Amino acid sequence: MEYLIREDVDKMGFLGMAMSSEFKCARCGACCEWEGPVRVDADEIDAIAAYLGMTSEDFVAKRTVLAEDRRSLSLMERPDGSCEFYDRDAKSCLINPVKPRQCVLFPLQWRFPGWERLCACGYL
Ligand code: SF4
Ligand code: SF4
Repeated sequence: MEYLIREDVDKMGFLGMAMSSEFKCARCGACCEWEGPVRVDADEIDAIAAYLGMTSEDFVAKRTVLAEDRRSLSLMERPDGSCEFYDRDAKSCLINPVKPRQCVLFPLQWRFPGWERLCACGYL
């Protein structure tokens, strides 16, 4: 599956995946360590910025970058490509209540190439 943007995801209807009884996240963190864009749209930016107590403008300037394909903004990454919001010690997302759709949808309705070699959830 190719990388998707928000409009693609919305066409799929994302809640079905999140509710799947077959999906059991093993909290391995591989999807957060993945070296690829975590895309955010305007609504997601507003929600994450508010959660962090920042203005949306400040959040965009300090915590996002333009994705390589220039189709969207993406959350800032660490030098190793992992998401800046992944807390490795706690194995959790620092913005979990407002994390982007892409993260909510993984791996049932949004995937990156080779995801099945990394994800420990066992869902195929
Ligand atoms: S926003 Fe949260 S769930 Fe999404 S990749 Fe970053 S740490 Fe993982
Ligand atoms: S890669 Fe799969 S098992 Fe690991 S945290 Fe992400 S969804 Fe959960």
